[in-house]
Amino acid sequence: MSQARLASCIPLPLEHRTLVSVVEKAKDWALMHGVGMRDRKHFTKDAIQIAPFVLLPSPFPKTEFTKAIELQPILNELMHKVAHDDEFLTNTLQNALQVDEFTANLFDIWVKVRDEGMAQTLSLGLFRSDYLMQNPDSNSIKQVEFNTVASSFGALSSYLRDMTRYILRQLGQAELLKNMPENRALSGLCSGITEAYDLFGVPGSVVLFVVEEVSYNICDQRFHEFEISEKRPDIMIYRRTLTEIYEEATLNDKKQLILDGHTVAVVYYRSGYEPAQYPTAKEWDARLRVERSTSIKCPSIHYQLAGTKKVQQALAAPGVLEKFMGAGAATGRVRDIFTGLYSLDFDESGERAVDMALADAERFVLKPQREGGGNNLYGADVREALLRMRHSRERAAYILMERILPPLVSGYVVRPGAAVPPPLTDLVSELGIFGVIIGTKDKIYCNRQAGHMLRTKLADANEGGVAAGLGALDSPFLL
Ligand code: ADP
Ligand code: MG
Ligand code: MG
Repeated sequence: MSQARLASCIPLPLEHRTLVSVVEKAKDWALMHGVGMRDRKHFTKDAIQIAPFVLLPSPFPKTEFTKAIELQPILNELMHKVAHDDEFLTNTLQNALQVDEFTANLFDIWVKVRDEGMAQTLSLGLFRSDYLMQNPDSNSIKQVEFNTVASSFGALSSYLRDMTRYILRQLGQAELLKNMPENRALSGLCSGITEAYDLFGVPGSVVLFVVEEVSYNICDQRFHEFEISEKRPDIMIYRRTLTEIYEEATLNDKKQLILDGHTVAVVYYRSGYEPAQYPTAKEWDARLRVERSTSIKCPSIHYQLAGTKKVQQALAAPGVLEKFMGAGAATGRVRDIFTGLYSLDFDESGERAVDMALADAERFVLKPQREGGGNNLYGADVREALLRMRHSRERAAYILMERILPPLVSGYVVRPGAAVPPPLTDLVSELGIFGVIIGTKDKIYCNRQAGHMLRTKLADANEGGVAAGLGALDSPFLL
């Protein structure tokens, strides 16, 4: 099927010499403002390289962008309610847990802390709802997924916008800047952390970032620390891996989490969302210790469970949105952003979904309960996997999702180490809207949208994770 193309912000291609010149400027701007990452191949802590980015802002329909922004608080609240509905979470995840050890481990921690009595009833969510445009349906946005843990690129996206604006000015296109929406993702996300800190209300307490052994996406994380430190000089931030937390953090008799002699007010997970981040039982032990504590967790364990693909699929089933949101107009607006989502459980509808996917595998994506990119199956792999798992319980660990067909955009992707100038290529963009929410089961203290990210990948690539090395950071140019 041929995909339509959205018009670029200025006519392309650029003339060769102009292109070479602005690419050099863009790279230097990016490096000098920290739009960077650490090099995976030649790792050193002493250097960063540019994060992959798209040279000019990619077109995005304004009505769809606005819709996504407006929906964010509604989706935040929906996920908050889902996370606090024990019965719904349990029923929804039940079959996947039998065959997915990682999700089962998270679930067991949730059950344990609930049975003990939760020491902290407040949750902090720094969420990101991701969308692709559905070209056959007037480029209306469809939700790819809802991230509740370690939603990244708020900081880099906030800065990249300024780089893109600089490049447009260098091209003599300053009048186009008005089409680039403001992006306060970094300050918005950080204020979520500081508001949670204030609700914790213990002077001298600290914030703990849970990080990977090696943080390739170091700039994005550090900018959060710098921002918090700037705005709130009274707040100290610690970075620890789960392994270090196992060694160093303790629970006192009031269930406060103590690190380096300080009470931890807020725990912000930038790690802990995939199996490799728990190499031994120690890391699971550390996670349990944190969850048992009075610290406000971002996300709480039930927020993390609510962010599973299985929950996303269950929300799309008839009547479920109504159960959480009533039957008003907002429910209809949320349903509109859902695309076909199907359970693969061993029941009648699961069998129907398997048959449907086997008949036309290209129409679907097969997704396990995983985060971080690179875990889904497409096309022929969907078919092969379903044939293999047809009679195996393993099937219940996956959901089936209709494949979204986004419109093409044209652009230049600038990558570290790649030849200059880059070729003009066909790309597709995925929009992410950040959301901040803080609340208990019964009371929501804050709930707002907090800026956006745009991430663009080669049109023929299945996935476009920037951290995974496939996609590029981008900024929307509203049409
Ligand atoms: P993860 O939690 O690993 O990021 P996603 O659901 O976001 O999982 O899938 C990863 C990527 O796969 C997305 O960023 C998108 O590029 C692609 N993708 C996921 N679902 C679909 C879909 N239904 N149609 C088209 N592409 C998809
Ligand atoms: Mg995700
Ligand atoms: Mg994703």
